[in-house]
Amino acid sequence: MPHSSATKAFPRMQPGPRFEVYTLADLEKGTIPHLQSLSPQQRLAMRAVAHVLPFRVNRYVIEELIDWDRVPDDPLFQLTFPQPGMLAPDDLAAMTDLLQRQAPAGEIRARVQKIRARLNPHPAGQLALNRPRDAEGNPIGGLQHKYRETVLFFPSQGQTCHSYCTFCFRWAQFIGDKSLRMASREAGVLHDYLRRHREVTDLLITGGDPLVMKTRHLADYLEPLLAPEFAHIRTLRIGTKSLSFWPHRYLSDEDADDLLRLLERLVAGGKHVALMAHYNHWRELETPAARRAIARVRETGAVIRAQGPLIAHVNDDPGVWARLWQTQVSLGIVPYYMFVERDTGARHYFEAPLARCWEIYRQALQQVSGLGRTARGPSMSATPGKVDIQGVTEIAGEKVFVLRFIQGRNPDWVQRPFFARFDPKATWLDQLRPAFGEEKFFFEDELAAMLQADRRGGAS
Ligand code: SF4
Repeated sequence: MPHSSATKAFPRMQPGPRFEVYTLADLEKGTIPHLQSLSPQQRLAMRAVAHVLPFRVNRYVIEELIDWDRVPDDPLFQLTFPQPGMLAPDDLAAMTDLLQRQAPAGEIRARVQKIRARLNPHPAGQLALNRPRDAEGNPIGGLQHKYRETVLFFPSQGQTCHSYCTFCFRWAQFIGDKSLRMASREAGVLHDYLRRHREVTDLLITGGDPLVMKTRHLADYLEPLLAPEFAHIRTLRIGTKSLSFWPHRYLSDEDADDLLRLLERLVAGGKHVALMAHYNHWRELETPAARRAIARVRETGAVIRAQGPLIAHVNDDPGVWARLWQTQVSLGIVPYYMFVERDTGARHYFEAPLARCWEIYRQALQQVSGLGRTARGPSMSATPGKVDIQGVTEIAGEKVFVLRFIQGRNPDWVQRPFFARFDPKATWLDQLRPAFGEEKFFFEDELAAMLQADRRGGAS
């Protein structure tokens, strides 16, 4: 599509609302008026949690997404505001005590660090594993190459989000500890790596949220990939929650139109462009701004695929998922994944047993037509790969989980079914044991060897 038609397709929108964000400092100062309806004890608990886990919410989320008549049970409130149950009772008591007696900053910091260290900041070895190397064998920051055909890139300008999700599995990136951050500012590093790796077909730009960054930075990373030397990169995926948390990114932000034109140029240049949109609840799709943003993205030729985890207190209900998928289909979005809450952060508060996740998935799927049944899952992004729960059944008198790799460190594992003993309480792959008296799952020895090699050298 020629550039001129893009200009015609996206007439400038009217000026929209300003992006305004609230953080821990606003909780401390009491400057979020909506919270006045909560008790002082509740507000103190929120501050205690927000010292440990990141908190950031913008005015659009507060005013358009949260139903304040239903707080604290409102799912969008649970999704964005710190909840007392996110800390273990002892930790919550210790933190509230420190805050109440206005303990010295050093004492608070020491306690916070102790609690964070117990929250598994990098699930599935995010920091240590999957880090590719340059031609000289030096680790490359801001890149991950776990599966043969897909590279993940973490641009440094995209390592925050328009609001933070309370359950976020990348929370460690947001707490200001530089040693925990994965990011790269170097477009050249990304392009060099992709030039050398012709087996890679998909690039996923992720964060945080890459769409917090200016369009011109995104263009620096993506537009060079239209050159013939990058013909092997067929799909450009952008992981984002902005369609939900800040749809004005596509409507009235200063460079909103530039963003849409960039997407259109990438599509016109022959790439499959997919916005991997993160949704947790159908209410995120209901506002006029959200709907206009979705329509504008679709006009560019980019596809929106929806994914998100199953989270207790937010969407652990088949009716919520069924309505989410139905609404997505009617807006032209492709339901793509239902994830299992990852083994990090406040997981004890947000997780649901695998057996329950599978029931919710099944019951939700039964309520929607074929076009809504494209979401895969419930899927665990675990160290060996993406493993989904196919079902619960009985084989030769033993109750088992039927599992399958959707994606594996070894491509040969993909689609291979395997079986685990049924455990009604298990919430993650590492809690499952092989069925039928087996000692190990089929992939375990190979995985151990791969992890050892990864720690020694990694891809280059
Ligand atoms: S949008 Fe994604 S990265 Fe950002 S806070 Fe939510 S889960 Fe975390």
